[in-house]
Amino acid sequence: MRLLLVEDEKKVADFIARGLRAEWFAVDVAGDAKTCWKLASAVDYELVILDLRLPDFDGTELLRRLRRQGRRAPVLVLTACDSTQEKVENLEAGADDYLTKPFVFAELLARIKALLRRPVESRSDVLRVADLEVDRVKKQVHRAGRRIELTAKEYALLEYLAAHPGQMMSRTLIIEHVWDASFEGITNIVDVYVRHLRAKMDDPFQCKLIRSLRGVGYCLTDETAP
Ligand code: CA
Repeated sequence: MRLLLVEDEKKVADFIARGLRAEWFAVDVAGDAKTCWKLASAVDYELVILDLRLPDFDGTELLRRLRRQGRRAPVLVLTACDSTQEKVENLEAGADDYLTKPFVFAELLARIKALLRRPVESRSDVLRVADLEVDRVKKQVHRAGRRIELTAKEYALLEYLAAHPGQMMSRTLIIEHVWDASFEGITNIVDVYVRHLRAKMDDPFQCKLIRSLRGVGYCLTDETAP
């Protein structure tokens, strides 16, 4: 596991890096935004720890640019400021978690481990399967560049399938994730919604992305049927 630590205060950086290396992480340290940008463009880090107050650039704006560049590694933001507004701003800019200085190393480590446990596919803002794009921030769907209008439930179903491309998802699993525990309808609700989805995002296109396996469930894939 290779991590990038962006922190300009040498003492703090040394303390964190030493602690993380003792936990068997590989740690690169960047003392400013410029170095961070250079390293993050060259290396696919598993996680980034980002101090917001950097000498050469605003940390939040740096985070925004990294996300726009398609950098998907989880980002844990470090800051001396404990304002809700700043937290919200950074979470919206693409931060995955937040820690206020001063902190105890054990908490930093626990948060890093928790972030690394999250599956990568569930973190990315835009899910792609073949020419289908599901934007989880804007809740918008495009196929071959064309906007596809979906209802909230159709969207939730498609997002769930797109987050697990190539995996056959059972009706029960789909209901559990797309509807909720209070749902007491019939399992054929899934079939009904898949029909709606197909009409909107598969029927108008030559390549069909939603596959079904009788009695099992549904799967989103661009592989041609065997
Ligand atoms: Ca700083």
